[in-house]
Amino acid sequence: MSFFQDTLSIFKKRDLLFLQSYKESEGVYSFLFKKEEDLTWKAGQHGLFSITHKKIKNPTKPFTLVSAPTENVVRLTMAIGENPSDFKKAMLELKQGMKIRMAGPVGSFYLKDNNPSLFIAGGIGITPFRSILKQVEAEGNGVEKQIQLHYIDSKKLYLFKEELDEIANKTSISVTYLDSRENLHHEINKFATLNKNNGNYFIAGSRSMVGSISTYLQKNNVSKRNIKKDAFYGY
Ligand SMILES: Cc1cc2nc3c(=O)[nH]c(=O)nc-3n(C[C@H](O)[C@H](O)[C@H](O)COP(=O)(O)OP(=O)(O)OC[C@H]3O[C@@H](n4cnc5c(N)ncnc54)[C@H](O)[C@@H]3O)c2cc1C
Repeated sequence: MSFFQDTLSIFKKRDLLFLQSYKESEGVYSFLFKKEEDLTWKAGQHGLFSITHKKIKNPTKPFTLVSAPTENVVRLTMAIGENPSDFKKAMLELKQGMKIRMAGPVGSFYLKDNNPSLFIAGGIGITPFRSILKQVEAEGNGVEKQIQLHYIDSKKLYLFKEELDEIANKTSISVTYLDSRENLHHEINKFATLNKNNGNYFIAGSRSMVGSISTYLQKNNVSKRNIKKDAFYGY
């Protein structure tokens, strides 16, 4: 999506009807909202979500649309720790029938071609990749896509593991679960040696993780324009 289209869609605001929320795993919650027919997005994009049912400081934050558009629901998945921010407290208070506001979708973190792609997720940074892989699964073109997902999580929570494994079983997409940077570097080296700048490199996770892996890729001669980043601040 071009900068121009992004600027336009940021002005598209709509209220989303809250349906339900549930705990995914320790400190991680999903929130489901009704998807109106005229709302769509490219799997991997995010929206800017605002709390409207009460007045809070910093009422607007970006979150990935973790559902693929074909799933017909808007799903957000958030890490919510023991001392949640006012925003996340307000999210946990949502009851059926209440609404939050969404601006967007925005962002260019989505697949544009069939070139080999390396996906690197750190912790909660798995959210855009879940959406992209669910979309690939729904479109049934997982055999043509050469995608490797490397999911690094020091807590070994590995969100969406069942779904990811099911997609990997049905397609040529590979998913590996890692808990150390050394193993990740090894996988990056293999992919970069084979695909160099014919590959796409997607990184999502905390700002520091995304920054350091991007630097690592560039030191390994991967051009900046082949690297797409979703840097989640606040972690
Ligand atoms: C493109 C993009 C996509 C993103 N997608 C996701 C996603 O899918 N899932 C996701 O979880 N995040 C995502 N993020 C990050 C998200 O937008 C938030 O920045 C992040 O969740 C931190 O929000 P917060 O409200 O906890 O943070 P902040 O307000 O930045 O707070 C950080 C920490 O400070 C403490 N704190 C803050 N306020 C209080 C308070 N009032 N009382 C006590 N403690 C407090 C808490 O410990 C909190 O965790 C995304 C970011 C970007 C840019």
